[in-house]
Amino acid sequence: VFSWSYSRQQAFNRCERAFNFQYYPWDEPDTAQARFLSRIKTHEQVAGDAVHWAVAIALKTYRFKKTDIPSLAEPALQRYKETCSRSRWIVDHLKRDRKPPTDGAVLHADVYGYDARDQYKSAKDQVERCVKNFRSSAAWKFIKTTNSTHWFAVDPDHRQMSKFKFEVAPLHFVTVYAGYDFAFRHDGLIYIVDWKTGHKTPMGAEEALRQLAVYGLHFINHPQIRAKGVEIRTQAIWLEEPSVWNPEPISTANFQEAEHNIKTQFEIERARNRVEVRKNGEIITIAERSAYQCRPELPKCAGCKFGLICSEGKDLVQRVRS
Ligand code: SF4
Repeated sequence: VFSWSYSRQQAFNRCERAFNFQYYPWDEPDTAQARFLSRIKTHEQVAGDAVHWAVAIALKTYRFKKTDIPSLAEPALQRYKETCSRSRWIVDHLKRDRKPPTDGAVLHADVYGYDARDQYKSAKDQVERCVKNFRSSAAWKFIKTTNSTHWFAVDPDHRQMSKFKFEVAPLHFVTVYAGYDFAFRHDGLIYIVDWKTGHKTPMGAEEALRQLAVYGLHFINHPQIRAKGVEIRTQAIWLEEPSVWNPEPISTANFQEAEHNIKTQFEIERARNRVEVRKNGEIITIAERSAYQCRPELPKCAGCKFGLICSEGKDLVQRVRS
């Protein structure tokens, strides 16, 4: 009934109310709005998605044709621009009271109606830099020397969403989603790689280690891999800058922290939510909104995707602006 992922945990830590809008929007008067707003992304995130997509294209092409794509920046930029135009189209549709499609990202700037030309330009530059640094990275050069039949799934259109059952308490299991970017077996080791499209900061590097530990948990919980006792090496590759290839084992502390976070979050949600079995047999978790605290703060609320339906956050932003 309960599930966990690294990004879900981050959302909870950032703002409990936004977490509630994102993951438990059911049975509320604003359910439809919350579901729509949960699709909001920033220009930087859309650029990051385009880079991830392009990297997956490069991996897939190399896997099957043993060749590099001549230009990777062009399709990546195209992808970025298409997502931006589609977002404008979706929001225009809404303004004309037409039903928007149920998929596709929408940009924060389009929904909240502000000028984001600077963000558009800097995200385009971000795409170009990241793709260039990926192509020249030592990681990519190393990956191409490995046996591609030992690469784990690389599908540009469907992010690898592996999941596993994690026992959080006797007879209680949480489904953990581990959406790692890329992994492969080589020389008796498993390598997990995470492509990062933001700028590297000390805090970001720490976060990346925590995230990679969750992906590591996925592999050590895999029955076949566990049986073989395969060792794991991980690395976050920061594509905004040139990188070296230096994968490292996951520390015991990071593994323990990942397990602790999953168990703690389970206990929090189990205490606050109730589980209902619907008439059609569907099992649904109901999370009362009031059980998830709203603590408006700037600048968090100014950039929040749920500002339209969060009265406390909206009040704060309006007060500051007026
Ligand atoms: S507007 Fe602020 S308080 Fe409201 S959900 Fe967003 S971040 Fe949380």
